[in-house]
Amino acid sequence: MSAPTRLVVLGAGFGGLEAVLELERRFRDDPGVEILLVSENNFFLFTPLLPQIVSSYIEPRHIVQSIRDIRRQRRFRFLRARITGLDLARRRVDTSAGELPFDYLIIGLGSVPNFFGIEGAEHCFPLASLEQAVVLRDHILDLLEHADHEPDPERKRAWLTLTVVGGGYTGVEVVAELRDLLYTHVAPHYRGISLEHVKLLLLEATPEVLVGVDPKLAARARRRLEQKGIELRTEARVTRVRPGQVELKSGETIETGLVIWTAGIRANPLLETLPGEKNKAGRVVVTPYLHLPDFPRVFAIGDNAVVRAAPAEHTVQVAPLAIEQARVAAENVARGVARQAYVTFEFKPKGMLVSLGMNDAVVNLMGFKLSGYLAWLFWNAVHLLKLVGLKKQVQVALDWSLATLFPRDTSIIRAPRRCRLCHPEAGAATPR
Ligand SMILES: Cc1cc2nc3c(=O)[nH]c(=O)nc-3n(C[C@H](O)[C@H](O)[C@H](O)COP(=O)(O)OP(=O)(O)OC[C@H]3O[C@@H](n4cnc5c(N)ncnc54)[C@H](O)[C@@H]3O)c2cc1C
Repeated sequence: MSAPTRLVVLGAGFGGLEAVLELERRFRDDPGVEILLVSENNFFLFTPLLPQIVSSYIEPRHIVQSIRDIRRQRRFRFLRARITGLDLARRRVDTSAGELPFDYLIIGLGSVPNFFGIEGAEHCFPLASLEQAVVLRDHILDLLEHADHEPDPERKRAWLTLTVVGGGYTGVEVVAELRDLLYTHVAPHYRGISLEHVKLLLLEATPEVLVGVDPKLAARARRRLEQKGIELRTEARVTRVRPGQVELKSGETIETGLVIWTAGIRANPLLETLPGEKNKAGRVVVTPYLHLPDFPRVFAIGDNAVVRAAPAEHTVQVAPLAIEQARVAAENVARGVARQAYVTFEFKPKGMLVSLGMNDAVVNLMGFKLSGYLAWLFWNAVHLLKLVGLKKQVQVALDWSLATLFPRDTSIIRAPRRCRLCHPEAGAATPR
């Protein structure tokens, strides 16, 4: 009997998970094929709801689904391991659990924050993982607890100035969530803090926020955020971050409690070791069939890939793109196994949904534009439907409902020794 064909998928994110489910559908009854999913986390993370973890709107575990739960009776295998190297010529993946051979490989290892080489990046809080969201939430709560008793008004103001760098959809959603937390929950519950002490600052290096969103909706979003008391500053490029300070290219220094970095991402550094062309963000340039030019059995998807000569709006780093690419990569793997010709990938972006906090959003879906409360209901409905698993959908729906009846849970989860105000030696912000 010949050895089974080994199909290996790296990363259990939007792309990797969809790819493995598609391979499962195609090879469900084929004993000649082995399907293996490898990822360092044993769960799938629904990133669009990360900003709501930061604002204590929903509970961290409610936006992740364990791979074992997703797998249930399916036959694919899951290995929780860290990928440490890719040797495409030998068809081997190096992992913390040893070397893995493959016949076909789909790479969906996502991205990491891009600090563009600014000085003091280690003092910024990135927001790309569940752990980072929880750590950031706890640091914000540390600041509130300290500010509540701080007699010096200048110091209190500095601690309560929360700076978000990056005016893309993530930065906008984060600052809007922080506004909800501070205005609806903190002011009534922390007696030593009044809204006069609070400042929410969104810094964007380019002249516009929400680039890529319909300009009228982007302008409306900007107006709404400003009406809500958020200070939006465009053409404000951050050049350096120090504990408690952010410096702009203009030379201005801003005193701040913390700096949240949402200004850019780049592909997983593991991709640097791959042969072939990469774009500025480190994404591998793939053929229209989504495989690496010299490796027809190695596919890259989602935040890891950019299709050669694709228009800019088809190269955005969003979940629908990763999912669509995963389906095509999996189909091409199936075609490769069956010795059929590959199909090409085409993407039609459907639009953009951006939450502006409680009761407000802007939506542009297939030319259909909406803003305000209805848009917010639509945003909620779409995100609830896209969550993986009925249990998680119920949990998030309950979190949202309970938040209208009860105060947000502001207990600090991680160890007190990590508080940088109680223990300045706790050091840099970035969780390692
Ligand atoms: C805060 C935030 C909000 C966002 N909001 C939206 C939104 O509203 N709408 C939208 O469309 N997109 C949104 N995105 C973008 C979206 O999450 C990404 O475009 C999408 O996740 C890309 O999918 P992917 O499969 O390429 O990577 P990911 O989903 O990031 O998956 C990568 C996987 O690889 C694993 N991995 C990484 N390195 C290793 C390693 N060395 N070893 C083993 N496993 C590894 C990770 O644990 C993860 O499971 C948001 C992203 C963030 C961070």
